[in-house]
This record gives sequence, C-alpha cells and structure tokens, in this order.
Amino acid sequence: MEEEKQRGKGHRLLLMPSPLQGHITPFLHLGDILFSKGFSITILHTIFNSPNPSSYPHFTFHAIPDGLSETEASTLDAVLLTDLINIRCKHPLKEWLASSVLSHQEPVSCFISDAALHFTQPVCDELKLPRLVLRTGGASSFLVFASFPLLREKGYLPVQESRLDEPVVDLPPLKVKDLPKFQSQDPEAFYKLVCRFVEECKASSGVIWNTFEELESSALTKLRQDFSIPIYPIGPFHKHLLTGSASSTSLLTPDKSCMSWLDQQDRNSVVYVSFGSIAAISEAEFLEIAWGLANSKQPFLWVIRPGLIHGSEWFEPLPSGFLENLGGRGYIVKWAPQEQVLSHPAVGAFWTHNGWNSTLESICEGVPMICMPCFADQKVNAKYASSVWRVGVQLQNKLDRGEVEKTIKTLMVGDEGNEIRENALNLKEKVNVSLKQGGSSYCFLDRLVSDILSLKSATSRVH
Ligand code: UDP
Repeated sequence: MEEEKQRGKGHRLLLMPSPLQGHITPFLHLGDILFSKGFSITILHTIFNSPNPSSYPHFTFHAIPDGLSETEASTLDAVLLTDLINIRCKHPLKEWLASSVLSHQEPVSCFISDAALHFTQPVCDELKLPRLVLRTGGASSFLVFASFPLLREKGYLPVQESRLDEPVVDLPPLKVKDLPKFQSQDPEAFYKLVCRFVEECKASSGVIWNTFEELESSALTKLRQDFSIPIYPIGPFHKHLLTGSASSTSLLTPDKSCMSWLDQQDRNSVVYVSFGSIAAISEAEFLEIAWGLANSKQPFLWVIRPGLIHGSEWFEPLPSGFLENLGGRGYIVKWAPQEQVLSHPAVGAFWTHNGWNSTLESICEGVPMICMPCFADQKVNAKYASSVWRVGVQLQNKLDRGEVEKTIKTLMVGDEGNEIRENALNLKEKVNVSLKQGGSSYCFLDRLVSDILSLKSATSRVH
C-alpha cells in the first residue's frame, strides 16, 4: 500500500486547465489523485479565473500571463475566450517551460493539458515534453466533436431548424437537435476550435477522461478504434478521493447555509436547481422556472448565480413576496456546495443544464435529473442521461410553467419517476464498482501511472 503511494515520487507533473469552473474542478481533482500516487503537482493557470492556491498547499501554482484585457476577460463568449488564450499564452508558456523545466530539481514527466488548450501540443513538441490531454467533458460528446468534419460533409452541420427532428444516422441515438452548438459571436470559430483540439488530442501521448468504462463503453470503444493513442477513462475523479478530504475547487464561495435547510426537508423531496457556472437564461425563462417550481408544490433549492439572468444583477425579476408566499418551501443561494447537496438524502431530483461535471456528480449520487441543456456538449449529455442511461427526463418543449410542473411531478411522484430513480441507483452502484480494486477506473488509473512513469521526456533524460 505504502509502495503504491510512492510510485510517482521524484516525478513532477505540470497540469494546465482552461480557466473555467467546469475545467478547473476536474483538473484539481486529477492533481489530487496523482498526488496520492506520489507525484509532485504544478498547476499552471491563467491570471483570469486563477484558482485559490491556499486550498491546495500541497501543489505548486504558477501563473502564465494571458494578456487578457478586462473587457476580454468578462466576455461570456467561451469560444472567443478560449481562442484568445490559445494565442496569447503560447509565448509565455514556452518561455517559462524552456527556462524552468529543464532546470527543475525533479524531472518533469509530462504536461497534462486541457483538450481546449490545443496550443500546448506544438509547445510541448518543440521542448520534447510528452503531452497528455485531460478532456473534461464526456466521451460520447467528444465522439460527436471528433465527427464534426463528417457531420458537416453530410449536411448535419451547421444545424438547420427544418431538420431538428431528423436522426443523425452516424451517431445514434442523437437527433440533429442534440448536436452541440455554441452561442458565439462567430459560429465558425466554434467549429474550428473543436476540429483543432481534436487534432491535437490525436497528436498527444494519451487522453484521460473523467468518465468510466461502463457508462460510455460504446463511445470509448469507437474512440479507441479511431485514435491510435491510449485512452484512460479513470473517473469519476472526485470519487477517488476519500469523502471530506477533497479541498474546495470553487471559484465562488459556496453558501453552506442551504445544508441546514436541507436537513429540515423530507427524504427525496427536494428539487435542486442549478445551471452551472456559465449558462444564462432570459428573464421570461427565469419567471417560467420560478412559477413552475412554485406550482409543483415540491421544496426546491435554487442556485441563482449573479449573471444567470440576462440583464439582471441577481434575481430582481422575481415578483415581490414570491419566496415568502412559499412558506419556507424554496431556498435560493448564489452558489451551492454542489457535491454535498447532491449527496444529501433530502435531494430527490437535480434540474440541471447537463454540464458534464454536474451530470457525473448526479450519477455518482444516484439523483435523477431534469435535463435542460443549453449549449456545447450539454445537449449530448442530456440525450444520454434521458434516453440511454434513462436516469432523467428532458424538458422537451418551450420552457413553460405548466411543462415544468408536469415534469417535476413525473419525476417526483409518478411510476415513470420510480423507474428512473431505480435506474439512477443502479448506475450509482456501477460507479462504486468501477472505483474498487479490480474495477475499470481503478485499473485504468494504475495503467496511467505506469505509462506516465515510462514516458521519456527531455527533462528526465537530463537528470
Ligand atoms: N457547482 C458548484 N456550485 C453551484 C453550481 C455548480 O459547486 O452552485 C459546480 C458543480 O459541482 C460542477 C461545476 O460547478 O462541478 C460546474 O461544472 P459543469 O461541467 O456542470 O458546468 P459548467 O459550469 O462548466 O457549465
């Protein structure tokens, strides 16, 4: 056991996430997992959205200047932001690596890059530093990304309104409406970014996934056929770590007061509502959600992030007296300790935008989902959650209070809800099995550690 903990001793790993919450969290968790194997961890981060080093005293942090102006950093256009980082960080990263890595006390075994930061592949190639990729999304959605050129050739992309209900023949069970799209100033930029990061994944020494074999076996099998590099599905990351040992990965401070509110609620009664760190909704949609929740008569815990509602600071559009009239049945926070919330016995459903982390966190706790995807990979995740794993229901039509109320009741009180709850509990069990000794994620992690130790980097040859 002690030997197991020391395998990576004397080897340093450099990890660089994209500066968004849904990317930083899995990177810090991966850092913790590899730290537990003895590796020393350096987190390279942009100045924008830099993680809090004090939560991770056992890691080294180094900022790579991103050159983003305040206006650029405050853009809600994640494609534009990622493109800028890919251009602006290239030089500073190369300079830092060239000057410090070769002179580092411990040999640097490899660079683990966010898939979205494709610029790191040519930089690592130049310095003869092996590059592994962490893809923070799921494998099924990545397969869709890897199929973008084919989808364009066959006319599925760009998505046309008139074809939304057509099946995508090459990617069952997806329909055209499930294909990823991005609200970007420049829609072509999203296509180009995706193609580029897939290409640079193929050029890497291997791709790590925050998923597990049993969940996405068909996508992983197809990716193994198409990619000639190793693939390591070692997730769910946060479940490798002992309960309570994980430090906070949040960029925002979680409001823990909701935990004592949850303590007062009945088992499986609460609808937890959160749309992650980036998605934004219109005021009209916000009001339909609010009235749908109120009319459902279920207790709810709702994360209303400042900036969630277009054109509002926080939740000003909520009619006055709305919460008071619910008699304590509704609780609103700016940011929740989500993993803790989902593991609370009072939580009976998660109304989610199906960001990959949220989807996986819900699966890990066996919590059924109400799926309301917004953009990027979320539509694919929602389709898998509702139609393949059958652990959720997707809000299908236009967001309207009647539909919301009906969907909540289906999930919380109906027979269909019971079946979905049972599926969710079965899937949770599969997570546990995959992490145990001999389980798929356990074994892939073991292989990842061995493979990292056998990578030959220019710095290991110096030492
Ligand atoms: N999260 C959280 N508190 C909240 C809302 C979200 O801690 O109130 C976390 C959540 O647990 C997840 C991450 O933020 O790990 C969101 O990532 P995801 O991939 O689900 O969505 P994104 O924010 O990237 O759209």
